[in-house]
Amino acid sequence: MAIKRFEAVAESTRRKEFTVQESGRRSEIFGTQVFNEKRMLQYLTKEAYLRVKDAVLSGSKIDRKIADQVAEAMKAWAISMDATHYTHWFQPLTGATAEKHDAFFDLIKDGRAVEKFGGAQLVQQEPDASSFPSGGIRNTFEARGYTAWDPTSPAFIYGSTLCIPTIFVSYTGEALDNKAPLLRALHAVDIAATGVAKYFDKNVSKVNATLGWEQEYFLIDKALANSRPDLILTGRTLVGHLPAKGQQLDDHYFGVIPTRAINFMRDLEKQCLVLGIPIKTRHNEVAPNQFELAPVFEEANLAVDHNLLLMDVMEKIADRHHLKVLFHEKPFAGINGSGKHNNWSLATDTGVNLLSPGSTPMKNLQFLTFFVNTIKAVDTYEELLRSSIASASNDYRLGANEAPPAIFSVFVGTQLSNVLDELEGVSKGKLSPEEKTELKLNVVGKIPEILLDNTDRNRTSPFAFTGNKFEMRGVGSKTNCAKPMTVLNTIVAKQLTDFKKEVDLLIQKKNLKKDEAVFNVLREYIKSSKRIRFDGDGYSEEWEKEAAKRKLSNNKNTPAAIQVLTSKESLKLFADLQVMSTIEVEARKEVELETYILQTQIEGRVFNELVYNYILPAAVEYQNKLIKNVLGLKEIYGAAHKKLSEGLLTLIEEISEHLVAIKSLTDDMTNARKSANSIEDVTKKAFAYGDNVRPYFDKIRYHSDKLEQLVEDSSWPLTKYQELLFIK
Ligand code: ADP
Ligand code: MG
Repeated sequence: MAIKRFEAVAESTRRKEFTVQESGRRSEIFGTQVFNEKRMLQYLTKEAYLRVKDAVLSGSKIDRKIADQVAEAMKAWAISMDATHYTHWFQPLTGATAEKHDAFFDLIKDGRAVEKFGGAQLVQQEPDASSFPSGGIRNTFEARGYTAWDPTSPAFIYGSTLCIPTIFVSYTGEALDNKAPLLRALHAVDIAATGVAKYFDKNVSKVNATLGWEQEYFLIDKALANSRPDLILTGRTLVGHLPAKGQQLDDHYFGVIPTRAINFMRDLEKQCLVLGIPIKTRHNEVAPNQFELAPVFEEANLAVDHNLLLMDVMEKIADRHHLKVLFHEKPFAGINGSGKHNNWSLATDTGVNLLSPGSTPMKNLQFLTFFVNTIKAVDTYEELLRSSIASASNDYRLGANEAPPAIFSVFVGTQLSNVLDELEGVSKGKLSPEEKTELKLNVVGKIPEILLDNTDRNRTSPFAFTGNKFEMRGVGSKTNCAKPMTVLNTIVAKQLTDFKKEVDLLIQKKNLKKDEAVFNVLREYIKSSKRIRFDGDGYSEEWEKEAAKRKLSNNKNTPAAIQVLTSKESLKLFADLQVMSTIEVEARKEVELETYILQTQIEGRVFNELVYNYILPAAVEYQNKLIKNVLGLKEIYGAAHKKLSEGLLTLIEEISEHLVAIKSLTDDMTNARKSANSIEDVTKKAFAYGDNVRPYFDKIRYHSDKLEQLVEDSSWPLTKYQELLFIK
């Protein structure tokens, strides 16, 4: 058998160093390929500039006349930057981004060529939408969908193409993408949070959700990655024995970044900065060949766009460094997986972070209001929040090697737990002047601006307060952040709306002062949301039992986790806040289920290929060598050979046992797949894949990994973990 593995290893060790030229200071190159504030001022008329700004700030519509002007300006700028094409850049439910390029070039009547791009092309496009997933929204006679300009995210030039961020909706107006619902959720949280922030500062007129994601990934030599069919087709290794040295020495985490990786990062950062992605941090992660990068946080919609663009840029840059980026949440079993922590907060247009403790009691009451309401929202909708991070690939990560568990809980730290405990004791109704003073001086007034214990120490908490923001840690490294951000901002919007109603009622009906009313409502929230608070070890069996007692959901796989999307409460929530209609939610659920089925199906098929075309032949070939040897010994030594070939005979038998087992498990898995495929109902089918097909994967892998240990190295066809993880 010709073995690609060794060619790949040889190729990977022959790489020449790729040096990156630094071109100019980072602050100078930042955003040079973005149609940002500076370009708008330069290229737009004052009127058009103000109208676009207003659309960004208040969501006002841009009419055709202005759109024409903006298009003209964008075109002039793009052509001056050598762009030849434009595209509407959107986020279909496949999870990736999509684009269809059109040239600025056009012909006019007399056959002359002109450069054309007007308001019509800027505002709306009609990509052939029939092959994007729609969850049944578009039946055949309404197969059209259109993309529409999102002026809140600036256009940018990528390669030689002007990219215009857009939403993607069906002809009947339903969202077919991840951006449209996110924008609606951000609008909802803006309205709700602004209403509450006005209790503390009348000047607040807008609240933005902020997002700072931390992207984890693996970098593997391209030849090595391409030598593994499972990595190419499923994004993860389906088999592979753990090397003698894994991550147990913790010598990679925050260590010196290997040369090839640092060159990749420098190249990447340069490209990100010109595209306006404010990359700031880079470091090694826990597993060998695993890394992380993080930007300065931004308004959530922009941050989501930037993360999606980043992932695309990473793949392209990696390619020219002969590297492959693995975004899968669990590319290697037994080794840390990759996540994408979503740091989230709310910021006012007056420049205040609403989740940051302040220097005065009043500022701290504002902080506590948003802090407690967020906890309460997560408590009420923990299962829905869990559903937003569910995916076939993230199922392998949650609950393993430092990843948070599938059970949602909130970490607040001891200092703030103490504050919440104190607030729980606040009297009902009107407060005596003494109690008020006491609260202001000793409870609210005592929250320090910097919270000492709210650091990153508790890495297993799925939703941790980290000093001035919440950090959602279960998000998968591949996931489009729009999904968790849509749910989080929706539930917080709903919670803040309810809060305001309750406070207003106490002020009007019970004649309470504003701060008294706030304290009263917060007290009840603290009491009723206690079960969601947990600062301990998220892995432990005790916590799993305790969480069950607290009636927290513990959905271990995607089909189970996303059922809640279409519960009566969820549908009402999305509809009331105008984030998604029932049709839209149902369609999304269907797309998620179908994706889960397809991904599991592909893994099943790849297992078949690996077992029959790689693992069985390699093991048989090696076993034949052993048999030949035993026969030779017999020929020479006759009956006396038995003693000499004892060890070999047991090895031959061991190999046979694994061969028998792996073959029958693979065939059983194939049968389980067949029976799952015959199910019509998409929900039942997804459960069948999750409950009846997937469990075979670990069993098959067990025997393959045993065989990998038994078979001589020179006959093993699949590139080993040791090579994938330690060749730098
Ligand atoms: P670490 O969590 O590693 O200690 P930081 O706390 O500095 O690091 O930030 C991690 C991420 O959180 C960064 O991407 C940062 O931009 C983001 N972040 C910081 N403050 C906020 C905020 N107010 N809103 C959203 N994200 C934030
Ligand atoms: Mg962090």
